[in-house]
Amino acid sequence: MRLLYEGKAKRVYETDNPDQVQVEFKDSATAFNGQKRADIDGKGAVNAAVSARLFAWLEEHGLETHFLEQIDEQNLLVEKLTMIGLEVVVRNWVAGSLNQRTGLDEGTPLDVPVLECYYKNDALGDPLLNDDHIRLLGLASPDLVARLRQEALRINQVLTPFFLDRGIVLVDFKLEFGWNRDGALKLGDEISPDTCRLWDKTSGERLDKDRFRRDLGGVEDAYQEIYRRVMMTAHA
Ligand code: ADP
Ligand code: UDP
Repeated sequence: MRLLYEGKAKRVYETDNPDQVQVEFKDSATAFNGQKRADIDGKGAVNAAVSARLFAWLEEHGLETHFLEQIDEQNLLVEKLTMIGLEVVVRNWVAGSLNQRTGLDEGTPLDVPVLECYYKNDALGDPLLNDDHIRLLGLASPDLVARLRQEALRINQVLTPFFLDRGIVLVDFKLEFGWNRDGALKLGDEISPDTCRLWDKTSGERLDKDRFRRDLGGVEDAYQEIYRRVMMTAHA
């Protein structure tokens, strides 16, 4: 299989079908724009399975995603998309860069979700963009930005109760969208403990990549715990 792209967390391969690609989820993890690197045992399998489950759940709730099927432990078959060069972040609680930007305490609930768009550009360190910056760079029209915001909010409305039923608070998460060959807007990339902040509802324990970013220990166990809870069919 021809490798089309190798990123920090995944490899994208060509398939026999020009409209489909295979995405391999790696165990390697990076943080702080690639400055910190390590392998997290089992991460690729967790992120592939969790993404597959969440994409399927979103589809069941009428949201369009690139997901087609899980090929094996670390590989998904997805629709090939022309990606929009933005990372759309949805926040339900203050954490991470929102804490740093505003000084609001981490763990402050947000009455209305906060949405942000970042420029997917490693060389610039993925900076935050306002609507004028997005227009200036030609990344998306104002109408498309409005559509991305609406999609992201609908996804948040479906994922928040999914996680809460499993004793997990969906603090914030990052989404990437793209266009398929027919011009349909679809959610792409992944939804996993790499791209979401997930806190245990009772203890507040961090069950996501922050354990790696902040050297909290127990990284592998946290990923396995998210796998276990996301795969549960019976609600807690
Ligand atoms: P990064 O590029 O940030 O290092 P990854 O290691 O996750 O990230 O690489 C995966 C790449 O594949 C990303 O650039 C992402 O935008 C892209 N991608 C995700 N879903 C699709 C898709 N359905 N079709 C084409 N490219 C995709
Ligand atoms: N995020 C991501 N990829 C990025 C940047 C952020 O998946 O390149 C996710 C991150 O895991 C968190 C949310 O987006 O769930 C918000 O991240 P934040 O802006 O707080 O940045 P960070 O603290 O991760 O630098």
